[in-house]
Amino acid sequence: MKRNSKTLTILLMLALSVMLVIAGCGNSAGTTTQEAAGTDSSTTAEGTTSTDQAADTDQTTAAADKEETEATSGASETVGYTPLDQLQESYDIVIIGGGGAGMTAALEAKAAGMNPVIFEKMEAAGGNTLKSSSGMNASETKFQKEQGIEDSNDLFFDETLKGGHDTNNQEMLRYFVDNSASAIDWLDSQGITLDNITITGGMKEKRTHRPTDGSAVGQYLVSGLVADVQEQGIPLFVNADVKEITQENGQANGVKVVFDGSDEKTISAGAVIVATGGFGANQELIKQYRPDLEGYVTTNQPGSTGDGITMIEALGGTTVDMDQIQVHPTVNQEKSYLIGEVVRGEGGILVDKEGNRFVNEMDTRDNVTAAITKLDNRESYLIFDSGVKSRAKAIEQYDKMGLVQTGETIEALAEQIGLPADGLKSTLDTWNASVAAKKDAAFGRETGMDNDLSGAPYYAVKIGPGIHYTMGGVKINTETEVLNASGEAIPGLYAAGEVTGGLHGQNRIGGNSVAEIVIFGREAGVKAAEFVKANQ
Ligand code: ADP
Repeated sequence: MKRNSKTLTILLMLALSVMLVIAGCGNSAGTTTQEAAGTDSSTTAEGTTSTDQAADTDQTTAAADKEETEATSGASETVGYTPLDQLQESYDIVIIGGGGAGMTAALEAKAAGMNPVIFEKMEAAGGNTLKSSSGMNASETKFQKEQGIEDSNDLFFDETLKGGHDTNNQEMLRYFVDNSASAIDWLDSQGITLDNITITGGMKEKRTHRPTDGSAVGQYLVSGLVADVQEQGIPLFVNADVKEITQENGQANGVKVVFDGSDEKTISAGAVIVATGGFGANQELIKQYRPDLEGYVTTNQPGSTGDGITMIEALGGTTVDMDQIQVHPTVNQEKSYLIGEVVRGEGGILVDKEGNRFVNEMDTRDNVTAAITKLDNRESYLIFDSGVKSRAKAIEQYDKMGLVQTGETIEALAEQIGLPADGLKSTLDTWNASVAAKKDAAFGRETGMDNDLSGAPYYAVKIGPGIHYTMGGVKINTETEVLNASGEAIPGLYAAGEVTGGLHGQNRIGGNSVAEIVIFGREAGVKAAEFVKANQ
């Protein structure tokens, strides 16, 4: 789609997206009220969540939430999700889930000459993708080359494998890295330009692609995809909760979907793509697979309940790595709001209640989380200065939400947050000397050290760990075909995005979830279209 022709639409959608995230805030799956989560997609070795998803939101009072929800409903009508009276009984391809993977798949299916439809169970599209903050990882891209960043697909492969503790599905990973640059180009051709490049935890090269202004990727990506889907005339129904995938002679051939909570319809299709996201908001499933995480807050949007996994299992599909759940180290506990890795990537540090650093902040998410978990009450403070604040745009959002505390001096900040001033001051002096020397003798940090922390005012956000991303899911192959326990493809059934497992192994690198949904979402659209054509 032509960038110029849709500028207005994108502006409208951006406004909508912000409202949508806000609206999502009131629906928590965590033990505290979840306000917005922020997804994947930030900057660490977690790399960083939901599509990485972490973008982060606004507003916090109940009244504000209500107002924003109402505003969202109005905005939804304005931007025009497909009205129910336009529903057909049959489509070439049914796509379940209107997040990043689903919309990407729809665009490719349409480009292949198909008539696809998207069913989204929430009142707006976006899913956890909307919350992604860090960006989209990709190697050997035109933007990296333009900016003199030397990277290679092999290095991206090796670092992701290392980050996943050598447990990633290597075939999937190979496909992923080799198709990452073309995914960036494809997005660019759709008017979604990610040319501002940063670094996430566990990575040694700058390969996390963000919008030009450095803002959170999720809102920008979702706005662009929704605009493209609408421009292409792809029907996108919201409040459309798919309950079952139908099958005939072993082949997926449609869905049963409930509209607006009560109106059930059976829709037939030549193929079905499942893009329902993860299960980070489903406390029951979390408890089943990881009893130790019971009671953790979640950064996930309320629709991330693992429906696709259940529906695919009913057809004989199998799962992988279901107990591999990424706990994000930096989540504001009161609002279950993810503080993106970008804050650390741009220079922030973590301290304990004595004001001391205790970890390499740019280590992988699992290692940073483990270090925080050992602290009293699993509490830590993310400390940064005005320079970080100007470089990491997401901080404006955290500030609006009341999550950021400010001090004109380090001592004033320490007093604000109740830490010993001399301890914090000495930590910052040591840290700034480490940045100058380009050597962190204490914890071996090597990235996110381009700038020291010497620009007043100083800031702090109190953080702790929260459930962020479910790395496990249904098993697919590189053609996104859903596999049964014997490793055979279930005909007509495809899956992409967080609903699938295997790519990330035991630990997802920040920025890899957005890449996953675009790379495998595209593949799902292409392969499902090929299947439909071959069976027509
Ligand atoms: P991904 O990053 O893999 O695209 P997202 O979380 O961004 O995942 O998007 C998944 C979308 O699927 C969410 O918007 C979620 O509400 C939607 N979804 C989940 N279950 C269903 C269902 N049963 N029917 C329709 N949509 C669903």
